[in-house]
Amino acid sequence: MFENVKEIPGDALLALMVAFKNDPNPNKIDLGVGVYKDDTGLTPVLNVVKKAEAFLLENEVSKGYIGATGSPELGPLLQKLMLGDNHPLITESRIATAQTPGGTGALRVAGDLINAVNPAARIWVSDPTWSNHFHVFAGAGVEVRTYPYYDADQNGLAIDAMLEAIRQIPQGDVILLHASCHNPTGIDPTAEQWDQISTLVAERSLVPLIDCAYQGFGEGLEEDVYGLRTLLSQCPEALITTSCSKNFGLYNERIGALSLVTEKAEHCQRAFTQVANCIRANYSNPPAHGAAIVTTILSDHALRQQWEQELADMRQRIQRMRNELVSSLQSLNCNRDFTFIAQQKGMFSYSGLSKEEVLYLRAHFGIYAVESGRINIAGINDQNIGLLSEAIHQAIQ
Ligand code: PMP
Repeated sequence: MFENVKEIPGDALLALMVAFKNDPNPNKIDLGVGVYKDDTGLTPVLNVVKKAEAFLLENEVSKGYIGATGSPELGPLLQKLMLGDNHPLITESRIATAQTPGGTGALRVAGDLINAVNPAARIWVSDPTWSNHFHVFAGAGVEVRTYPYYDADQNGLAIDAMLEAIRQIPQGDVILLHASCHNPTGIDPTAEQWDQISTLVAERSLVPLIDCAYQGFGEGLEEDVYGLRTLLSQCPEALITTSCSKNFGLYNERIGALSLVTEKAEHCQRAFTQVANCIRANYSNPPAHGAAIVTTILSDHALRQQWEQELADMRQRIQRMRNELVSSLQSLNCNRDFTFIAQQKGMFSYSGLSKEEVLYLRAHFGIYAVESGRINIAGINDQNIGLLSEAIHQAIQ
């Protein structure tokens, strides 16, 4: 069976991680991998997570299976986090949520669900998007197409081209939109642009799949779901994939969720049986620990407040690094304007650096960024920002 198997090239980002690890340069800087790092370069366990885990260690009574759609408490808590209390979708029972292994698991179940209920539907993703979107949907047998998103000349959103492309998408297809902190560009639509996008998506009878992987990492827990709420106020049906990897720092616990929004409550109940079926056929039921942590935090007033503070600390550190990188490059009289970096949201930035410039940084300074020019702003800290700015200044000469 395996004698003539073709080798598949590994993930470019993982290869970058390995190259970074093997680089003996003591001043090397990792701007590649998409995890939050604090000012000392560590991806910390949040203090509030430690508290929740201590509570669980004392109080957990069983390791029994939790069922295909996971913790029954998690769904309502995540719905309220995204929609706010007493949202009509909640009071009208038009939303149902299944716990999944991370945001990736949610995307895969969403792909399986699309394939099960409307095999003709294609999914449209932004160009560029998180590269795994292609793998996940192709793996689920859903055809993936792209719509324009990035305007390289302006380092901004190509809103006109994007709207024009959405106008051409056939009715009933699915369109994936990043709720906030667009990966990889860091460029989010403004409120006015979200209004335009939502109106058009509804007009075209498309089903939005809202990938909500960074709630709280952009401008705030409420601000980061403006687009999500606007889309849901206009579109009768939707899918939402949630990741708790970044905002709870629970990357390796694999905790996320898939929410289904339907026009009527009875559609929701019926369609949710399809979600459960997709999960059973895939991994039977999800791991319990991450959901238990998130549920413990979100259902306790003091823990929730502590979480919001720790999340705000992460968000503000990223924003501070954006601002400091811009002013540090300005103070070196760089021959390029980088002010757009301070306007972008979340961990990632399309820096505008070319592939050659990225490779120069790697070869001469041990600075590791993705060849597209994407940098993880959370990899910058007070210790390395001076060197990084000098290096960029040289690379673009
Ligand atoms: N969607 C986007 C846009 C992401 O950037 C990521 C993580 N890089 C995910 C989904 C998946 O997150 P998780 O690690 O929870 O599977």
